[in-house]
Amino acid sequence: MEGNLIKNILCKTFVKLYQAGLNTPKSGNISARIGNTMIISPSGVAVSDITPEKFIEVKIGDGEIVNGTLTPSSEWRFHHDIYNYFTENKAVIHTHSTYATALSCLNIELPSFHYMIATFGSGPVKCARYETFGTPELSLSVRDAIKDRKVCLLANHGAIAVGESISEAYDNAVLLEELAKIYLISISAGKPTLLPKEEMLELKNKFTTYGKNNDSKA
Ligand code: 13P
Ligand code: ZN
Repeated sequence: MEGNLIKNILCKTFVKLYQAGLNTPKSGNISARIGNTMIISPSGVAVSDITPEKFIEVKIGDGEIVNGTLTPSSEWRFHHDIYNYFTENKAVIHTHSTYATALSCLNIELPSFHYMIATFGSGPVKCARYETFGTPELSLSVRDAIKDRKVCLLANHGAIAVGESISEAYDNAVLLEELAKIYLISISAGKPTLLPKEEMLELKNKFTTYGKNNDSKA
């Protein structure tokens, strides 16, 4: 029952990512963790063909498929490893959103140029070194880049956002795209001022309680 509900939410969010312009019809993928399994989108299925039944359940630990007939996303490995190594996360979203991907092609970090960067962690958003999609090497590079963060860029490829819920991961993907856009506009016009480390640490702490009392899901 819980699995079906999660598949429905994942499917709706997969479509929403496309509608919000964060993915093209066949790019990106999404998953959520339930206990010691994750439910993940199928590989290469266009947004127009996606249904909740097409999602696949994969065991965390050995990657064994425990439910579903289609092939899981080619990126199942980094989804799996994020749950395995950073256990607070319950959802992972991968996008090829335009501005975040443009930054990833420059192979640069997204520095502390705006206070909202602190919602992702106290430091800059890192860019995972380029590795071929779907490989264990890409997963290793993602692990280094996303440690202590809620998002990272994937060099010459796209971005990843994680969260303690599917909606939090979605919000992080949207915010990353917006901040990447502002950063690219800023560096085209001049040299953005960066916020000091101490201020980013303070902001990170502030964000741990921000909006929590008013959160309808709390
Ligand atoms: P999948 O369709 O296999 O999930 O791959 C899409 C993608 O974005 C690869 O990085
Ligand atoms: Zn991709």
